[in-house]
Amino acid sequence: MDMRVRKQKLVMIGNGMAGVRTLEELIKVAPELYDISVFGAEPHPNYNRILLSPVLAGEQTLDEIVLNSWDWYN
Ligand SMILES: Cc1cc2nc3c(=O)[nH]c(=O)nc-3n(C[C@H](O)[C@H](O)[C@H](O)COP(=O)(O)OP(=O)(O)OC[C@H]3O[C@@H](n4cnc5c(N)ncnc54)[C@H](O)[C@@H]3O)c2cc1C
Repeated sequence: MDMRVRKQKLVMIGNGMAGVRTLEELIKVAPELYDISVFGAEPHPNYNRILLSPVLAGEQTLDEIVLNSWDWYN
């Protein structure tokens, strides 16, 4: 009999600040529990939306407000 515990699938729709922060905590307390997939409507990794105005005003770059780079997702 296969005694390995199979990870449960967890799908998060929306690659936003609150959701990704939740995933960070989940991964910290239960790193082996879930096989996680994230679907997002935007072509960017998770960024600090509160700082979007300075980016649109040209005062900051999008890279500067990214919270989780693409590397984090692997
Ligand atoms: C310009 C600006 C300034 C702000 N300033 C402040 C501030 O000073 N203080 C403050 O407290 N709050 C501020 N806010 C609000 C704050 O950014 C939001 O409260 C916060 O981002 C909410 O986080 P969230 O993760 O719930 O949602 P979001 O950050 O909105 O993330 C949701 C994500 O889900 C994606 N999504 C939605 N539906 C789907 C779908 N069906 N399929 C795939 N993806 C989907 C969206 O594209 C988005 O990326 C500001 C917001 C903006 C836009």
